[in-house]
Amino acid sequence: MRRNPAPTPERERLAADPFPVVLAGPSGSGKTTIGRQLVELRSDIRFSISATTRDARPGEADGEDYHFMDRTEFERLRDEDGFLEWAEVHGALYGTPRSNFLEAREAGEKLLLDIDVQGARSVRERLDETVSIFVVPPSGDEILRRLRGRGTEDTARLRRRLRSAESELAAMEEFDYVVVNDRLREAVSRVEAIVDAESSRIERLGESVQVAAEEFVDEIHRAAASGESAAPGEVDEA
Ligand code: ADP
Ligand code: 5GP
Repeated sequence: MRRNPAPTPERERLAADPFPVVLAGPSGSGKTTIGRQLVELRSDIRFSISATTRDARPGEADGEDYHFMDRTEFERLRDEDGFLEWAEVHGALYGTPRSNFLEAREAGEKLLLDIDVQGARSVRERLDETVSIFVVPPSGDEILRRLRGRGTEDTARLRRRLRSAESELAAMEEFDYVVVNDRLREAVSRVEAIVDAESSRIERLGESVQVAAEEFVDEIHRAAASGESAAPGEVDEA
């Protein structure tokens, strides 16, 4: 699978500070699938593994898909201020461990959060630099088809998720971007493009813009000076 190349000196010179990327949207819209594919492609993006009190689904592993815990443990962590954000979603508690954010920032990686709209609001309020993306399915029929196809919820739970889809969709306008998840590969590319465009925003580059501009000027002067002393023709051929 394609992974992004190692950073070149030019990239490091003009590197944006890492920022959180939030994927939200109705259950079944494909946030987890898109997020997981993106972190496979990109070594500069880290998936935020949340804590939850919901039961693990068949095939889900503790510490890989979620940190599964009971309410007592979740509430203890929450009361110790261990979460960047947390919310009750479809009757269970979910939260982003603060350590996920701190460790990603330390590593210079962007943290990708697959969270609900309440969590997205909290992260945006706390971290101004957040990029928020709302993922929608191509149609209402398709979301139902995908949720049924995933086969992880009984009828009552499925209904509950479809009901919450209504309030999730009402929050769409709060987001910076919307991505329609019709063809998976295209949706992943779009999210990747958004992350890359955001990484190139001048305001994210901070002081490195001024420093890089000065370095480029110095280098141009040095190159020109060595060009002047070079034999005729040498510079043009470089
Ligand atoms: P969410 O995390 O938003 O609840 P999932 O990522 O679990 O959604 O996706 C729900 C189901 O839809 C999964 O079975 C997944 O494999 C499937 N799915 C996701 N994206 C697509 C797509 N573009 N086309 C078809 N099926 C998809
Ligand atoms: P699921 O049970 O399908 O894995 O997730 C249900 C919902 O909880 C999804 O909308 C998912 O994005 C959201 N969610 C997962 N982790 C977190 C989290 O850490 N915080 C918040 N606020 N929501 C989360």
